[in-house]
Amino acid sequence: MSIDNLPPLRDVIATHELAAKKSLGQNFLLDLNLTSKIARLAGDLKNCDVLEIGPGPGGLTRGLLAEGARRVLAIEKDPRCMPVMAEIAAAYLGRLQAINGDALDVNPLEHLTAPIKIAANLPYNVGTELLVRWLTPPEWPPFWVSLTLMFQREVAQRIVATPGSKAYGRLALLAQWRSDPKIVMDLPPEAFSPPPKVNSAVVHLIALPAPRFEADAATLNRVVAAAFNQRRKMLRSALKSLDPAIEDHLNAVGIKPTERAEQVGLEEFCALARSLKG
Ligand code: SAM
Repeated sequence: MSIDNLPPLRDVIATHELAAKKSLGQNFLLDLNLTSKIARLAGDLKNCDVLEIGPGPGGLTRGLLAEGARRVLAIEKDPRCMPVMAEIAAAYLGRLQAINGDALDVNPLEHLTAPIKIAANLPYNVGTELLVRWLTPPEWPPFWVSLTLMFQREVAQRIVATPGSKAYGRLALLAQWRSDPKIVMDLPPEAFSPPPKVNSAVVHLIALPAPRFEADAATLNRVVAAAFNQRRKMLRSALKSLDPAIEDHLNAVGIKPTERAEQVGLEEFCALARSLKG
């Protein structure tokens, strides 16, 4: 069953000769029922503008529009996808704007009105960098209400990881400090064309109105980066470069100086950042 009057995605790809390019991380979703389901995971879209990165042949774009997004702004690096975007824009009059450019360079805020949600099947080569940018703006709350993002499952696990697990690190702490992240869907390689080598997962992150624990963002970032850059080392040596009296700061906030980064929770890292900043 089609979700709109546009051609099936396989036909779109054939007509526009969109052979997938590995260099652009192109693994396309071809099932419109699946892309609509992903769009629904972003919650009610009716009164929201949606930013989509990497629409490709437009499966998720059509899902977002069919599910009622007020407007979609799609930023796509591959110029071959622009004629497809024009066809979708004609079918959903006034609701789709597509920009041919690199998502790392384009400022989407010039084209969007709040409230804004972000939804994307991200290109693997820029996915983590974009997520880190969205999680580390100078001001909080950020410009977005929620992120609904497809990642390699291994990256998704790093976002929701808890202390003591191998996946726990900087990404988990950044994500969990100021948002509530959950894995909401698992997808096997066969869901994509061409199938990637790994499993994928959709992560839904809701921006918290304020950080979970008080801390200066830049200090917390420095602490977490230093702690996990040398995750096998004890914290007293991994963090030595931050402050010669690091052992005193660790003791003052109740972290054993002999502990390793992967044992330390978000609340303790925030307390350490406050102590260092103070
Ligand atoms: N959304 C489509 C889907 O679900 O079928 C395509 C997803 S595919 C995994 C990633 C898309 O991101 C590709 O269309 C690719 O051309 C695009 N892309 C890659 N790097 C990009 C960048 N830096 N900025 C914007 N788009 C990019």
